[in-house]
Amino acid sequence: MNPQREYRFLEQTLSLCPQCLMRVDAKIVLKKNSVYLLKFCPVHGPQEEILEKDGDYYLQRMKYDKPATVSKTQTERTLGCPFDCGLCPEHEQHTCNGLIEITSECDLKCPVCYAESGQGRHLALEKIDSMLDFFVDSEFGGAEILQISGGEPTRHPDILEILRRAKEKKIKYVLLNTNGLRMAEDEAFVKELSRFIGGFEVYFQFDGFDPKTDQRLRGRKVSELKQAAIQRLEQYGIPVTLVTTVDAGVNDHEIGRILEYGIRAKNIRGINFQPVAFFGRHHEAVTEGRATLSGILEEIEKQSKGMLLKKDFFPLPCDVDRVAITYLYKTKKGFVPLTRNFKAEKHLPMIRNTFRFDPDDFLKDLAKNIFSTSCCDYLGFFSKLRKLIPQNYFLKTEQEKVAYVSENTFRVSVTSFLDAYNFDMKSMKKECVHIITPDLKKIPFSAYNILYRNRKTEAETVPEKKQ
Ligand code: SF4
Ligand code: SF4
Ligand SMILES: [Zn+2]
Repeated sequence: MNPQREYRFLEQTLSLCPQCLMRVDAKIVLKKNSVYLLKFCPVHGPQEEILEKDGDYYLQRMKYDKPATVSKTQTERTLGCPFDCGLCPEHEQHTCNGLIEITSECDLKCPVCYAESGQGRHLALEKIDSMLDFFVDSEFGGAEILQISGGEPTRHPDILEILRRAKEKKIKYVLLNTNGLRMAEDEAFVKELSRFIGGFEVYFQFDGFDPKTDQRLRGRKVSELKQAAIQRLEQYGIPVTLVTTVDAGVNDHEIGRILEYGIRAKNIRGINFQPVAFFGRHHEAVTEGRATLSGILEEIEKQSKGMLLKKDFFPLPCDVDRVAITYLYKTKKGFVPLTRNFKAEKHLPMIRNTFRFDPDDFLKDLAKNIFSTSCCDYLGFFSKLRKLIPQNYFLKTEQEKVAYVSENTFRVSVTSFLDAYNFDMKSMKKECVHIITPDLKKIPFSAYNILYRNRKTEAETVPEKKQ
């Protein structure tokens, strides 16, 4: 009898060789219910990388896919993806999240920092202002989410003015990405931040409680300081989303405890878990057994004591490969997932290409799409939504709305990024987190960190032996 392959071939794609960054052929295959990328570099030979731990999750995610939203583009199609960023006309999703790195200075020197931050320079206020205007214009006059990032953005001397200007532009939601250290030490600063409440959130790096986790991911013990900062933000009613980098064998055992902590704190609106990516300071990869999106969902189910099941999550339509999400709401018996027994794929028209959750928008979309879904689905959905949003919600002040959403809802998401190891070009083209660069381009986050960061000219972004 002829021998059989040890895997099932799923599809063909293009990837990168992590050693020479040449674009190489790759197959996506299913083996023992996990999904792998099999590549071949003519110089560096065959390579195998894990894409997703759970093959079932991977295979069903496309049900949630929907047509993309379009952004304006800044470059031409010349060399092919990922060497034409961007955005080039080949990119398949608009900017859900625009990220501006206002400084490369940081008070930590994390071993996993993709930006390799430490000592650095601040961008000038006027430059940042022009980047904000560019971002809004590139989204046809109304942008979704802006992340003010770095380095550590709270080190920028004009941080409050930058936030003030960002809030004045046509951007729906402004996030401040931070390691939180300044918030633990500087109460006056936190008080100033509270002026921005409403369409503003602190996106707070938080990896766990174990000093070993801190040491491995952040280079020093910081967890207690961060908890003090979160308390201070709570004192001023400032909403927070925790962002947790998950490194297999380092802090994946802390997922349950982080969830518990997040849900208990009044001002924490949600947690975003991110499998660690191998670029920047962390480019020396041991990718075998690495954390993946679906692997983290399994850990959430195992460690949340039944509160969350893997099937409560659905792939976010704006980027089904890389974002899984669920929303919980508060009941007398504790937090319950809104999505339990709810077929999200039937409600795709109502789920925008964004991962912000805003009850005002949600209800407006619901009203607009009432005729495109069947009546029963609509009623079933609306009765669930009603539990989440009380009738007097729209009468509340902005501050009260923020407090209500923070206390009564909770969002758990997992977002993965691509590095040169797990690079799948199809997935690259759908990436919706984009870096806004000082020369007014938008470069998808993964492509930026693999190829464009620290490169000064366009020519330098193209490896010599590119196909
Ligand atoms: S990642 Fe997107 S913007 Fe960059 S080259 Fe590929 S399609 Fe174009
Ligand atoms: S990961 Fe964040 S906190 Fe750590 S060095 Fe980089 S910018 Fe600073
Ligand atoms: Zn190679």
